[in-house]
Amino acid sequence: MKRHRVIIVGGGYAGVKALNLLAASGLCDIVLIDQHPYHYLQTDAYELIANECSMTMVSIDLVALCLSYGDQVAYVKDTVREIDFQNKHVLGEISGHSYDYLLLCSGSRTAYHASIPGLREHSHGVKTLFGALSFKQQFEQRLYEKMESEGGWRTKPFNIVIGGGGLSGVEIAAEMAFYIRQFHQDNTLTCDNIHICLIIPHENVLDGMEDYLVHQATKRLLQLGVKIINHSRITSVDEHSLILNDKESLYFDFMIFAGGIVASTLTAEMDLPKNKKSQLILDEYLRVPSFETVFAAGDIAELRDRGGKVIPPAAQSAELSAEHAAKNILALIKNEKMAPADLRMKGTLVALGGKYASVSIFGWIRCTGLVGYWMKTIAMRAYRYRIHLQCAKGVQLLQKKKPACRKGF
Ligand SMILES: Cc1cc2nc3c(=O)[nH]c(=O)nc-3n(C[C@H](O)[C@H](O)[C@H](O)COP(=O)(O)OP(=O)(O)OC[C@H]3O[C@@H](n4cnc5c(N)ncnc54)[C@H](O)[C@@H]3O)c2cc1C
Repeated sequence: MKRHRVIIVGGGYAGVKALNLLAASGLCDIVLIDQHPYHYLQTDAYELIANECSMTMVSIDLVALCLSYGDQVAYVKDTVREIDFQNKHVLGEISGHSYDYLLLCSGSRTAYHASIPGLREHSHGVKTLFGALSFKQQFEQRLYEKMESEGGWRTKPFNIVIGGGGLSGVEIAAEMAFYIRQFHQDNTLTCDNIHICLIIPHENVLDGMEDYLVHQATKRLLQLGVKIINHSRITSVDEHSLILNDKESLYFDFMIFAGGIVASTLTAEMDLPKNKKSQLILDEYLRVPSFETVFAAGDIAELRDRGGKVIPPAAQSAELSAEHAAKNILALIKNEKMAPADLRMKGTLVALGGKYASVSIFGWIRCTGLVGYWMKTIAMRAYRYRIHLQCAKGVQLLQKKKPACRKGF
């Protein structure tokens, strides 16, 4: 039987999930292409920012992961720039690859709207590992400068502004507020007067999510001293101030923007059906229309549930869609019938600063506080642990190969 070649572009939540399923089948050779040699655990970014974990805990080695599946899987570090769908060829900055099946999983990026002057230049983001690390370093540097320059109990206010009230904006606001509260308790005299302001375009944070989560998140943010400015849009940003709704000015010392996403740059030049966020519109089998062997999963695509409702971009939906797309690729390889997607989200877990989270699972298991925190932590740790175990196999294989390599020299 001919071995088919599957290319996965992007080793995030979707790409890694698909890789695992396709490799386990033993039916194809797989090439995973990612611009970075690691899988960045974005869902744990708030822990990194709050110094609760280190960089190694939010990144998974893609080289070791691919090695762990043996010779049938190869990792290529490259940035994909173009895809020749007619000739089934993927073109990166430094390499080109032919495919029988293609799975696009290159995710999304922060939507730095071009219509908001100064936004990209003067705000920080956490969508990439580099962004999260420089955010953390610069934030601590600014805090240090504040302590050093002012000191004493009569300090000038230090204002942190966060744009966007979705999952990432809320988690970052809560975690920073908690972190600052602790920082303040330990350095009372020098670190007084730090304020966090969350700017949201809607009535409530977590717009579109379950009322229970909205209520608990709002309550917690207010308890932590976060000021929520609702019904407000950022219309321009300067080095230390921004304009709200084209009229009101707001001073800030540090700004974070988490106000939505657009699909990865890869879709920008593609002449394919897309939504306003540049996400690919897929058919019921999660294929790119007109190309029978091209699938997409995760944030790069507009995902819908069985009822046609758009599913918000999330690690969970990325994994669910990748699992489904991978199964359909295997069905085609085996000359079997594909199944239409039926993506059902199991629940939402929102970290709300320190050992506190709000959780809703299957629409009826709900809890908030320490129990919620443990549920979220267990889910995150289990994901990380499973992949680390798989990576360990890759490292062992590499160590076995090494002496043979040395002999050759
Ligand atoms: C702070 C924060 C907190 C979040 N919290 C949660 C949460 O609690 N729960 C939840 O479910 N979701 C959460 N999310 C959202 C979640 O992280 C994303 O929805 C998820 O990462 C999407 O997975 P993905 O595989 O589609 O894309 P990604 O995980 O972004 O992976 C895309 C991969 O593609 C690679 N890539 C991109 N372009 C190219 C290219 N041209 N060539 C080669 N490689 C490329 C990237 O390097 C990356 O490795 C959070 C996001 C953030 C930023």
